[in-house]
Amino acid sequence: MVPCYIGLGSNLGRSQELLESAMAALAAVDGIESVRCSPLYRSRPQGPSDQPDYLNAVAELVTTLKPHGLLKELQAIESAHGRVRDGQIWGPRTLDLDLLLYGDHVIDTPDLVVPHPRMADRDFVLRPLLDLAPGVVIPGRGSVGALLAGASSHIRTGIEH
Ligand code: ADP
Ligand code: MG
Repeated sequence: MVPCYIGLGSNLGRSQELLESAMAALAAVDGIESVRCSPLYRSRPQGPSDQPDYLNAVAELVTTLKPHGLLKELQAIESAHGRVRDGQIWGPRTLDLDLLLYGDHVIDTPDLVVPHPRMADRDFVLRPLLDLAPGVVIPGRGSVGALLAGASSHIRTGIEH
């Protein structure tokens, strides 16, 4: 079993329901166990600003799946929640699932890069990750707490759920 962290984001549709449904879908995957969800955060979009705010969260889980197998499952859950890939970078989406950390593995392949290359600069990833796992270290980058101090500021509010 490898401990993993998944970043969740949504800024189209009923975002809170979508994130909660995505959490349930993760927990239902064969080979995934012990799913825990961070608090949710409302954050302003990066990239094009003419789009709605995001809801963001992080999920912790343990898995027997290999990294690319886990990525496939994440993409299947995105598709099942209405995600349409139209090629627009950082455009609005019903559901985005990013594999942030896969244990302490470092992976650099054309379709999967872990740790997620932009996670260390994003408060809407680091803050919920810190909520779940205060001691976690991002391989090659350092502790989440230290990185959060220098990250870009997107979070507007935390949300109880
Ligand atoms: P973004 O999340 O950066 O807005 P997308 O969700 O559209 O972009 O993902 C684009 C591609 O990123 C996917 O086709 C996937 O193969 C690739 N990718 C590379 N590393 C990762 C990762 N760690 N988690 C999720 N997708 C990844
Ligand atoms: Mg993504």
